[in-house]
Amino acid sequence: MPKIEIEPEFCKGCMYCAETCPKKVIGTTSAVNSKGYQYAVPLHPENCIGCTLCAVICPDAAIEVYKEE
Ligand code: SF4
Ligand code: SF4
Repeated sequence: MPKIEIEPEFCKGCMYCAETCPKKVIGTTSAVNSKGYQYAVPLHPENCIGCTLCAVICPDAAIEVYKEE
């Protein structure tokens, strides 16, 4: 199964990734990073298809997508 990782400290909470994801994998919780941004988290990682759109759209390179081997 593909897997995504989002680095909270790189994220500024723009939510481009959440809007772009065709599978609605990404959302937020009440958690904020050290800059006070409500960062993106993979809320439904089991739905990820590894398309990498989230990583491509992220202006801060906060997302890594690991494809299945
Ligand atoms: S790789 Fe594709 S399906 Fe997976 S979280 Fe990113 S945009 Fe969504
Ligand atoms: S696109 Fe990048 S910076 Fe914007 S919310 Fe998603 S992970 Fe954070």
